Amino acid sequence: MKFCDACGGILIPKMGSNGTELECRSCKAVYRVESEDLKISAKHSEKTTARINILEKDKTGLPITEILCNKCGHKNAYWWMQQTRSGDEPETRFFKCTKCGNTWREYD
Ligand SMILES: [Zn+2]
Ligand SMILES: [Zn+2]
Repeated sequence: MKFCDACGGILIPKMGSNGTELECRSCKAVYRVESEDLKISAKHSEKTTARINILEKDKTGLPITEILCNKCGHKNAYWWMQQTRSGDEPETRFFKCTKCGNTWREYD
């Protein structure tokens, strides 16, 4: 089983826009994975999903990545994945500047 580096939550396999990914059940951090890791994690997740406690998501709980804010020029932003349309659509990655709070989405 894989655990989130940011919050220690359990990672659930899913299909993302860039291929196979693991998504944290707690803070929605997303990790790229190798195909072999996915099989192992998928097997475990089916049994553990019901027992997972969803933690409150706050600003400091979000993972931070190195990306340039086009508003203030700061180079660190929180990020998360969010479903923008139907469940068939891939999730979109959003960023929020840790300095000025500017929020934007990543376009493919
Ligand atoms: Zn997490
Ligand atoms: Zn900014």
